[in-house]
Amino acid sequence: MKSRLKHEIVRVCRLLHKKNYLAATDGNVSVRLKDRVLVTPSGVHKGLMEADQIITVDLTGRMLEGEGRPTSEIRLHLLAYELRPDVGAVVHAHLPYATACTLAGIDLLEPILPEVVITLGGIPTAPYATPGSAEVPAAVREFIREYDAILLSRHGAMTMGRDVMDAYNKMEKLEHTARVVLAARLQGPLPPLPAAEVEKLRRLWKEYKGTG
Ligand code: 13P
Ligand code: ZN
Repeated sequence: MKSRLKHEIVRVCRLLHKKNYLAATDGNVSVRLKDRVLVTPSGVHKGLMEADQIITVDLTGRMLEGEGRPTSEIRLHLLAYELRPDVGAVVHAHLPYATACTLAGIDLLEPILPEVVITLGGIPTAPYATPGSAEVPAAVREFIREYDAILLSRHGAMTMGRDVMDAYNKMEKLEHTARVVLAARLQGPLPPLPAAEVEKLRRLWKEYKGTG
């Protein structure tokens, strides 16, 4: 089980690098396995990382197995597991287009694309926090309970899922949304979805999450 999960983390890290969702040593990935967390080490190139480099920590971040240090964003990952028992994996990446949206002041929580409302509810932007510091979990805390994909101002994004592929898929969806929105913005203001349609899509989101 543990070895399979480590290989899944490696696969997702390579995808994140191949898709340019991060550069060099940026980003980090974790998976929860009961009362343990498998997590990427700090400062490792995500396109070149191997399964035996993955570190095991407990739910307080204490090192149990591995070499080096766990990601500097370990507190962000642990907060997601603490607040969301349904979450089995967390991905953090430096998405170029989505990060550009935070710089340009474009709010992806605005309901523009129906698919995004149905599957993610929307994508909030957490206020600026120094990367790698305790400010990062503090900035996302208010969004974690409700949303699976959160933008980090001037920094990147975090996504949560039942497993690592589910969390990765949300990252891909987020960046795709940012590309569509930025392309449309070049042509002029974004046309809003009608209020009645937004209400319907939000109901579908609640059903999708199993809370409707
Ligand atoms: P780590 O190499 O410590 O995981 O840091 C990368 C990062 O993206 C910090 O925000
Ligand atoms: Zn980062």
